[in-house]
Amino acid sequence: MKFETVIVNGDVITEQGQQALDIGIRGGKITALLARGTPVEAVETIDAAGRLVLPGAVDIHFHCRAPAYPQRGDFATETRAAAAGGVTTIFEMPISKPCCATGEIFRSRKALGEANAYVNFGLYGAPGLLDRREIADMCSEGAIGFKIFMTGAPAGRNDEFDGLCLPLVDELYQAMQMVAETGLVCTVHAEDNRLLEWHTARLKAANRNDIAAHGESRPPHVEALAIATLLTLNEQIGMNLHIAHLSCAEALEVFRRFKRTGSTATAETCPHYLFFTEDDLARVGPYAKINPPLRQQSDQDALWGGLQDGSLIAVTTDHSPFTVEEKERARTDIWRTPPGSPGVEELVLGMMDTALTGRLTIDHAARLISTNGAKRFGIYPQKGVIAVQADADLVIYDPNQTTTIHPDMLFSQAKACDKLYEGKTFRGKICRTLVNGRTVFEDGVITGEPGWGKFVRPVRENVYKGF
Ligand SMILES: [Zn+2]
Repeated sequence: MKFETVIVNGDVITEQGQQALDIGIRGGKITALLARGTPVEAVETIDAAGRLVLPGAVDIHFHCRAPAYPQRGDFATETRAAAAGGVTTIFEMPISKPCCATGEIFRSRKALGEANAYVNFGLYGAPGLLDRREIADMCSEGAIGFKIFMTGAPAGRNDEFDGLCLPLVDELYQAMQMVAETGLVCTVHAEDNRLLEWHTARLKAANRNDIAAHGESRPPHVEALAIATLLTLNEQIGMNLHIAHLSCAEALEVFRRFKRTGSTATAETCPHYLFFTEDDLARVGPYAKINPPLRQQSDQDALWGGLQDGSLIAVTTDHSPFTVEEKERARTDIWRTPPGSPGVEELVLGMMDTALTGRLTIDHAARLISTNGAKRFGIYPQKGVIAVQADADLVIYDPNQTTTIHPDMLFSQAKACDKLYEGKTFRGKICRTLVNGRTVFEDGVITGEPGWGKFVRPVRENVYKGF
């Protein structure tokens, strides 16, 4: 057997657990899994002795923003960051200028990604123009799924959200029906708009302008109510519903209640809710303004419980690059600063650190950051698993080293905004990332090139509903 690349001596995380296997790669795919030490011929041999080989992470909630506002980040800068973080496939959200809500815009974004992405990428479409032809057009172009916001656009950013925001429940209902017809997954940002506007107005009237006011404007019931609305509508519609960034105990409890009566909806949470709380606001200030907001310790504990019992199927980054200037605006006006924080370079590190401490098994961590998202959206078994015929998207990870986050080692254009993680030390280190069989990151250096990442399209019949 002759391979282009073979990875030898590693402990490989497969769906059957950790195994001593050598991995043969040809044509960008895994073409053989061999007992360790099987003699093979290969152009390139990678020695992974003492290291784990993980399926590359599939981050189903990501923002590059390109082509709008390149100062925040673009397909090249943010997918370099993904490569360094062990994320080999990203699902890019439609927020951009113009918002990705028509077939034509979708095609131009796809071309942009194909020219610039270092890792594989799927593209969400926005169905909020309520135009069946545009939804069908994005679908036939290979949309990975759709995205809806139940809120209005953040202050001053209407241009980026045109076609995404459906704060009126009748319009939400129509969009859900249209997306249901496609058979694809729809990810929804669930916060009740009327309630959060009322809370916001009340706080502004009291001259509240501090970071804590942001959290108070979107308390847990804002999220829980929106999830109840969505799940109630979906009982009749039956869309493949996925709840974005579930952040608190109250929302999780509502979600579980519907699961008990047969809902096939799925939900994700994000590392910032798992590793930080509102106590971190004092340290990080406006850089921790995120929607939904950072919550309390009891919420964080509930989310870990939700991961452990399978209620939450995925951990995603919601990686959101902005400029320092944009985030610093909050020092004088918290309401004007855009919500979101980078985080793609800490997803694998954070979840694997958790696995090494025993809070989750390593297999479970791999499912949460890779396999489950790939399954849900219909790109498994091409992605999300180390198996013969899967794409060779792999991470070589050393559990015996440590990584301390410092802006100098990050690749995101928004690395200076990554204050939540700055100074944080994780057990483990990402040594090397392979995308489509080729090394794109090794020992702190990007070795890939723009355009190497491939556009990923879902197989509708494979969209998984059985979680
Ligand atoms: Zn997002």
